[in-house]
Amino acid sequence: MSGQTKFLLDESRIPKRWYNIQADLPKALPPVLHPGTMKPVGPDDLAPLFPMELIMQEVTTEREIDIPEPVRDVFRLWRPTPMFRAHRLEQALGTPARIFYKYEGVSPAGSHKPNTAIAQAFYNKQAGIRRLTTETGAGQWGSSLAFAGALFGIDVTVFQVRVSYNQKPYRRALMESYGARCLPSPSTETAYGRDVLSRTPDHPGSLGIAISEAVEIAAQRDDTKYALGSVLNHVLLHQTIVGIEAIEQLQMADAYPDVVVGCTGGGSNFAGISFPFIGAGLRGGAKPRIVAVEPAACPSLTRGRYAYDFGDTAHMTPLTKMHTLGSTFTPPGFHAGGLRYHGMAPLVSHLKELGLIEAVAYNQVECFEAGVLFGRTEGILPAPEANHAVKGAIEEALRCKREGRAETILFNLCGHGHFDMQAYMDFSAGKLTNQTYSEEELAMALSGLPSVPEPA
Ligand SMILES: *Cc1c(COP(=O)(O)O)cnc(C)c1O
Repeated sequence: MSGQTKFLLDESRIPKRWYNIQADLPKALPPVLHPGTMKPVGPDDLAPLFPMELIMQEVTTEREIDIPEPVRDVFRLWRPTPMFRAHRLEQALGTPARIFYKYEGVSPAGSHKPNTAIAQAFYNKQAGIRRLTTETGAGQWGSSLAFAGALFGIDVTVFQVRVSYNQKPYRRALMESYGARCLPSPSTETAYGRDVLSRTPDHPGSLGIAISEAVEIAAQRDDTKYALGSVLNHVLLHQTIVGIEAIEQLQMADAYPDVVVGCTGGGSNFAGISFPFIGAGLRGGAKPRIVAVEPAACPSLTRGRYAYDFGDTAHMTPLTKMHTLGSTFTPPGFHAGGLRYHGMAPLVSHLKELGLIEAVAYNQVECFEAGVLFGRTEGILPAPEANHAVKGAIEEALRCKREGRAETILFNLCGHGHFDMQAYMDFSAGKLTNQTYSEEELAMALSGLPSVPEPA
């Protein structure tokens, strides 16, 4: 074992600006459309849901956006996050590749999500907002926003997908400890939730339904807005702090990646680690391969259609062009709850169409095998979502071994798995299976995509 293992930056190195990839795109992002008029939405259309600063961050093409000092001040609790060289994993694989990982699990909520939760809470507070509504699946986003709400004095209401609410009480306990109100979705608090329950009283819920409920409440009240933990441009922007730090840390290691790997649910942690590298390439620098890893049971980037679709099930959101499995698609109940979303961030989808990123899909059992190997060599047991990135990095390292190439691989270890022990228990007991979605249901969900006239 030789060479440095930890690459640490001190507090003063917390980035002062986020990186906006919209400044460097060779082709602009397709517009977001109003579902009634099919015309591009303007800032005013989004104003009931988001504060104006965040709406402007959705559309700006300025390359660098200042991170407000109060946000940087909170980041000092856990940022800059460490980067590690995975010497022992490399040795176990017998690969000539160098593997580096950026570890976002050191945040109070245990993942990358507070990077945007803190920023969103700050801009809402600044706009005089008293309450935020949101959805959560497994509870990672809900606990991150609950933490942010506690620090900025904003009430947080979380609609948690009912199966997770019942099966994963510890994340709920964390949200409630931070002071948030947590409701199982579908709930009786909204017209849409009551409608779903009247048709299916024991409905297990879905992210799409929970989003509809959170949006419904936020749209009705002036003092309340909605917060989303992934997918939107401003969320991806906030996550670029991860890749900006990683570039500086790799310089300490005298390295630059040949491959950058991240897992994709809605696309935010993947964007966070990769966009600063893609941007550097677009501005004339080296162009590493960029690999998005998604679950085979919810394969929006590899099997979905690139089309305009709604972000939610009740069709209250605007239409965005993205890789989608259809807004009515219900993915099977595999363990990486954070990856069970029917769509993909429009920016990530756009980069895929432009050929600037690659995508692969893996099954959950092989991802847990990768996660357990990572735990046994590097000591950190990853979140089930992060196991997809670990699997992707291991596959790249094994390719390097076959080809005899000493490449440099960087991946985002976006969260730890300490709240996901049931999944690891099921894996150890051999009870975890590879779930597949129904081709028939996928075809049906895709046939229900809204028809949008091609722009002239
Ligand atoms: C929420 C979550 C994800 C999926 O969301 P992205 O926006 O794709 O990053 C992945 N990993 C962890 C640990 C999460 O909490």
